[in-house]
Amino acid sequence: MIKGLYCLLAYWLLSFVTWADVEAGSTSSQREDLSKMLTHLTDSLKEDYDLNLLPQVRVLREQSKQLGAKNLQARSLLLEGLIRQHFGDYKHSLVLHNDALNIARTLDMPALEVQIYLAIAQLEMDLERFRYAQQLLDQAYQLITTKVAAEQAHTLMGEFILWQGSLYLLKGSYRQALATLSDAHLIEYEALSSKLALARAWAYLSIGEYQRAETLIESDSVKAKELQRNLHLRVRYQLMSATAAIQAGDFTVAINTAKHALNETFGTRFLTEQSMLQNILAGAYAQLGDFEQAHLYLKRFALSQQALNLQKRNNKLLQLEAQYSLAAQKQQLSVLEKDNAIQAQQLIQHQQQIDNAHLAQQRGVLGLLLIALVVGFGYWRWQNKRYLITLKQQVTERTAELAERNKRLQALSFTDSLTGLNNRHYFFSVIDAQIKSDPSKSEEKQEMIFCLLDIDHFKKVNDSYGHAAGDIVLQTVADILKQCTRDSDLVIRWGGEEFLIVMPNMTHNEAIEAVERVRRQVECFPFVVNEQPIQVTCSIGFAPYPLTNGTNNTLSWEQVVELADNGLYMAKKEHRNAWVGLHSLNQPLNSSIKQLNEDYRSLINSGQVIASTSY
Ligand code: GH3
Ligand code: MG
Ligand code: MG
Repeated sequence: MIKGLYCLLAYWLLSFVTWADVEAGSTSSQREDLSKMLTHLTDSLKEDYDLNLLPQVRVLREQSKQLGAKNLQARSLLLEGLIRQHFGDYKHSLVLHNDALNIARTLDMPALEVQIYLAIAQLEMDLERFRYAQQLLDQAYQLITTKVAAEQAHTLMGEFILWQGSLYLLKGSYRQALATLSDAHLIEYEALSSKLALARAWAYLSIGEYQRAETLIESDSVKAKELQRNLHLRVRYQLMSATAAIQAGDFTVAINTAKHALNETFGTRFLTEQSMLQNILAGAYAQLGDFEQAHLYLKRFALSQQALNLQKRNNKLLQLEAQYSLAAQKQQLSVLEKDNAIQAQQLIQHQQQIDNAHLAQQRGVLGLLLIALVVGFGYWRWQNKRYLITLKQQVTERTAELAERNKRLQALSFTDSLTGLNNRHYFFSVIDAQIKSDPSKSEEKQEMIFCLLDIDHFKKVNDSYGHAAGDIVLQTVADILKQCTRDSDLVIRWGGEEFLIVMPNMTHNEAIEAVERVRRQVECFPFVVNEQPIQVTCSIGFAPYPLTNGTNNTLSWEQVVELADNGLYMAKKEHRNAWVGLHSLNQPLNSSIKQLNEDYRSLINSGQVIASTSY
């Protein structure tokens, strides 16, 4: 009745927790509520395993999972596992315990781990797989002694001793069981004293020491309150009392106790205890000679044994199945893990491919850019080259043009526009080179003759016939001079109606012949001006360069020209239409140059300078 009320309260609390989760979302208070819930459920399960609590435990497990409260989740898994285990659902129980164990390991909760190991050990003992049970107990012991905190370790050690003792009992190692479930331990682990004492008493009974067993089960170690509360414990207590009584020969007491106990087991799952009680009853009745009753209980005992055997076989099958499904689960997991690994690898490969493609793309773009750059640069160079070539061509053309123009300009500047003869500028530009290359220097008798020619009374031509007529006369005289001279001679329009003729490589006599030829040609030429024939004559003065053939070459060509001018002056003054050649003897002059040019007449008179004339 009270338990039912408690369950209702638990349900209400859990639904409240769910509602609060949605409404308030207050995680910490939810956790607190769930934790309280778990404590209540654990406490009530300590008294007895009640199948009615299973739904709440399951809700608790789900809620903890949703909240991410791993600790609560693991503990509720263990709780559910224990309930299921108690009712023979070993398959689910094992799965739940394993899930709880995984969480406990990841959370590093050694105390919880120990509890789970003990629970699985208990399960293995139920299935009479003692070797596995021992392994699990060993693991639990290892953890208690190395990792579990001191305050928890004490309680867990008590539990461990109880289960280790029980295992020895099941295996028939009664002495070891007695050593394990020692009197000292009954005192040390006071909270478990009832269970420990009953287990120790069973060991005594198993070896026939019923008095010790009786003393123990009647001692303070077995607490009346606990017996009242825990049906299983109570049944076992009565079973032991009955066994002790039968061993002591108190068959009536044994029968009464056993019957009472058997009554209590109706509607429970304590099949082992039931069969044992039936066995006691059969034995006791037989001892008392009531064979009918003995037979009846013996038959019941046989049926119970059959059922028990069936249950054990079933359980073993179920357990095997559970183990198989666990293994299958693990395999599935490993396959999934492998799958994941392959997928991850594929992802990495895919990523790598993408990266490679990117890299290739970048390289391609870079390559294209480079090619574009190279092509661009090449094109630019080619264009530049072309431009340079064009420029060079233009420059060459311009230079050539300029040179041509210069040449023409020079030619123009060196040419007299009226007569077409070279002018004074030309003469000045070439005379030095001419003198240098003059072969007359090496050939002793050869001289360079400078002649100055002036048209006589030319002013009159201008005055009488006009300036244009004068120009024609000038042109004609120029032509005559050209015709009378050699190609190697220079004919220069010296200025106005004056001409300079330079005749290299000539002897004095040859010079005389040449100037006479010129004079005569001009004199004889039939000039016609304004359809009227006119007489044109000219006067010529000339001098040789160098002035003497000796070593004392004191006169420059300018001075020689001046001397020739003096000769011309003489010819004009004394005759006209005549020539005067001035030259020295083949000996050095002893007068100065100044005197030579200013006072050539006295020099002539003194015989230092000789004047040859045409008159
Ligand atoms: P002389 O016999 O003493 O040399 O007498 P001239 O008249 O020839 O001498 P003058 O120096 O007095 O005269 C030269 C003249 O020549 C003066 C000038 O007008 C003329 N004349 C100079 N250059 C040119 C020219 O290019 N064309 C023409 N038509 N006359 C010119
Ligand atoms: Mg003149
Ligand atoms: Mg003149």
